[in-house]
Amino acid sequence: MEATKVKRVVIAGGGTAGWIAAAALIKHLGPLIDITLVESDEIGTIGVGESTIPTTRAFHGFLGIYEQAFVRATQATFKLGIEFENWGKVGDRYFHAFGSVGKSVWMADFQHFWLEACAQGFGGPYTDYSLEAQAAKANRFETHEGATIGYAYHLNATAYAKFLRGLAEPAGVKRVEGKIKRILQHPETGFVEALEQESGARIEGDLFLDCTGFRALLSGQTLGVGYEDWSRWLATDAALAVQTESTGPAVPYTRAIAHEAGWRWRIPLQHRVGNGFVYCSDHMSEDEARTKFLAAIEGKPLFDPRLIRFKAGVRDKSWTKNVIAMGLASGFIEPLESTSIHLIMIAVTRLIQGFPFDGVTDPVRERFNAQSRREMEHIRDFIILHYKLTERDDSPFWRRCRDMDIPDSLAERIALFHDNAMAYQGNDEMFRIDSWIMVMLGQGVWPKSYHRLAQMMEPGQLQRALSDLKAGIAQQLTKLPDHQKFVQAYAPATDVSN
Ligand SMILES: Cc1cc2nc3c(=O)[nH]c(=O)nc-3n(C[C@H](O)[C@H](O)[C@H](O)COP(=O)(O)OP(=O)(O)OC[C@H]3O[C@@H](n4cnc5c(N)ncnc54)[C@H](O)[C@@H]3O)c2cc1C
Repeated sequence: MEATKVKRVVIAGGGTAGWIAAAALIKHLGPLIDITLVESDEIGTIGVGESTIPTTRAFHGFLGIYEQAFVRATQATFKLGIEFENWGKVGDRYFHAFGSVGKSVWMADFQHFWLEACAQGFGGPYTDYSLEAQAAKANRFETHEGATIGYAYHLNATAYAKFLRGLAEPAGVKRVEGKIKRILQHPETGFVEALEQESGARIEGDLFLDCTGFRALLSGQTLGVGYEDWSRWLATDAALAVQTESTGPAVPYTRAIAHEAGWRWRIPLQHRVGNGFVYCSDHMSEDEARTKFLAAIEGKPLFDPRLIRFKAGVRDKSWTKNVIAMGLASGFIEPLESTSIHLIMIAVTRLIQGFPFDGVTDPVRERFNAQSRREMEHIRDFIILHYKLTERDDSPFWRRCRDMDIPDSLAERIALFHDNAMAYQGNDEMFRIDSWIMVMLGQGVWPKSYHRLAQMMEPGQLQRALSDLKAGIAQQLTKLPDHQKFVQAYAPATDVSN
């Protein structure tokens, strides 16, 4: 049977995933396709997902988003990385910064030179050679056209979906409000043909994006696509989330503070702070989590903490028949490194690049699925790293993490760094070499051996090179203003009502 040409795209769901997809598709394929988005105000959105990674900026560039307008509309602040507390050991602290650390040469990456410097007694902390880590420590930040500092955003999730809707609707995306009650499929092929609303209205399409969140109404519930459970490695399965009033200036980084059965986040926006308490229900009850969370948060809560349950894992196939799952419908890896929004952006970019105008074919679908899978597994491994490499022995949860078996792909990476100080970034992998190294060092892995290139340098040359790097960072820091002051001058929020 000949494949149906794809002209009508229907997006089910209007959370961050639905509106990211709508805004990107209309921007790049606008005149070629018709786009309808169906969402239900009554069901609402997940309401979390407020910390991002630097790829967001590239994606915004791709949509032609003007940064100041976006920052104003989403009450955003800037993020230079994540500070981890209590992960390797209780009382430990390390920073996973964006941007690059030190300076590499083609024969050997920077960590080899730094390890030699440490052996000679003058290396200092690895993140001393990261502008982003030092700026975060000093609460300084600035950006401008052509700025090279690595950064992302903290944003208000509800305002972000609204902002994207404000781009997508005037550009031609049709929005339909109301609950989807039934999914109509072709009797022979099983391809989805239409969404039927409670009102009886039908929205027909050729390609459907399942952006219905954890419900996965089309891919999971209708097409029966399975979900591969990753909770044997990522055991947390619940989060309490609440917003609090700000208690001081917004810091330019996310905080991830480990506790006895998980961790909690602190994401500062311009006018309030997003807080979450992620935990493993095998090791902590909801009541206990609530009590501990409320005792730990700073600032007045703006409502009662909301409970969100989840299961780490991935949909067996993102794209099945003519349905592509995006966002939470496609899988979920807990938010420790703020990767979910990135996954939505990369999925929609991939769809645009390989858009099936002449019909959905197996090779297009398979390529899409293979890439999605690799990205998810890569991120999964990076998150497991934080749990596996712990020396914490103070609770059953941490002992379970420390003693668990891990995927071979991750075990190999840890061994490579431990034995030879080597790290790498493969195809379709988002985390850079610097990210792997900062987290492995931060979690207590100290390489046994490293490249000896630096030993061939003239006496004093390595020390001079490293002090020049530090001096360069110190010099750049003096030019950076205070983060909060910069935000207020650059793009103060226009609406702080949610
Ligand atoms: C605890 C937690 C913390 C997180 N933190 C981060 C973070 O810091 N950074 C990050 O990148 N990501 C984070 N995420 C992930 C992030 O929240 C999501 O990836 C993102 O919000 C996208 O969600 P979504 O649009 O897929 O789903 P949702 O927001 O749930 O949207 C689903 C949409 O589908 C609609 N819908 C559902 N059923 C129907 C129906 N029957 N009829 C009509 N409409 C329907 C809903 O109304 C809604 O519009 C976090 C997730 C969790 C659970």
